[in-house]
Amino acid sequence: MRDYFPFFKRRPEVIYLDSAATSQTLYTVADDMRDFMLTNKSNAHRSGNSMGTWVDKQYQLSKELIGKWLNINKPEKRIVFNSGTTQGLNDAASMIMSAMSSGVVFVGIDSHHSLILPWTQSGNAKWRVVFINLDKDGRIDLDDLKAKIKLEPMAVSKVIAVNAVSNVLGLVNDLDAIKKIALDVAAVSIIDASQIISKRKIDISGFDFVAWSWHKVYGPMGLGCLLIDPVWLNFNPVRPGGGTVTSVSTDSVTWTDNATKFESGTQNLSAICSLPRLVEWLMKHQTDIEAHDISITKIVNDQISLAQFTPISKTDSGLICLEPVIGTVEDYTMMLDAKNIMIRSGKLCAEPLIKQISQGALLRLSWGCYTTKQEVELALDNLGEINARLSRLVQRTV
Ligand code: PMP
Repeated sequence: MRDYFPFFKRRPEVIYLDSAATSQTLYTVADDMRDFMLTNKSNAHRSGNSMGTWVDKQYQLSKELIGKWLNINKPEKRIVFNSGTTQGLNDAASMIMSAMSSGVVFVGIDSHHSLILPWTQSGNAKWRVVFINLDKDGRIDLDDLKAKIKLEPMAVSKVIAVNAVSNVLGLVNDLDAIKKIALDVAAVSIIDASQIISKRKIDISGFDFVAWSWHKVYGPMGLGCLLIDPVWLNFNPVRPGGGTVTSVSTDSVTWTDNATKFESGTQNLSAICSLPRLVEWLMKHQTDIEAHDISITKIVNDQISLAQFTPISKTDSGLICLEPVIGTVEDYTMMLDAKNIMIRSGKLCAEPLIKQISQGALLRLSWGCYTTKQEVELALDNLGEINARLSRLVQRTV
């Protein structure tokens, strides 16, 4: 796997354990984006010339292949390109709020800010936010969700907004059960899939909105997908503009009847044109990618105590967060950095959860399909050493 990622040849000294923030780039993506910018740059949808037509074909092919990869019928009606998960989750909230005048949104407390803020900061007092707690293992508590839904009258519009995997806990939420609950109460469902889509094959059918960012899937920055149920094509675009219409007069408009309705203006086409080869690679390697994630996850779960840390929870996939007993998260991050080990620390854009489960900040180690067992073990050993050094320092100063 590692040979597919030029980063590791260019920076052999680096141990990159920050893939949950962004993954390293597949070689085809870097090559295809460069080719686009230097050889094939042209705009889609708007030209009759052969260069523009080539871009149109790549754009269509990207959606077809994503459809094949994720089992989505009629991808042209369901896949919206955008700038990333944050835009997708904001657009989903905007579409829902423009379609339904009031309601309640049930948001997982383990959510990233991008799933929380579009609702808490919408300024629309007719939408209420109710947070769903986690069960004792750290996953969305289905009983809490059901109980809180039960408190609301039948007639109230409901939205369930959760992630598939939290970027703090690395635990896989039970999407099938959440889908069933949403169907039972006719709730609109929003899934933040950004931490799972590069790791596991998931069944995303039956949800209203599913969002992810390509930069976490070995792909380009500044490109995301929002998967929509076709019923949302009946509503007006969030940002009207070029590409969203079939005809316009001075006082009327006919919107397109496919997902381009939500893709106004010029898209990130150098990124989109790199998707066909990326998605083919993902389909080809899906089984290996999944098996690799499972094996690294097991190593981390088995060995984490060797590093003398209490993990916030054991993990299911992709990442683990730790709370230092001695020293600050910045101490560990800087000391690891001095050894070229790149991890992340802080509030991880999930403050409501971080406030519940920690003193205020955590260390996060996260991996991708290119991460080796040796790298993870080395990082854990180093964490243990730093911990021991800091403990000695503290003892000396007491
Ligand atoms: N949700 C989760 C769970 C994430 O981990 C992230 C990225 N940290 C986002 C949403 C936001 O993704 P982006 O910055 O690509 O929009």
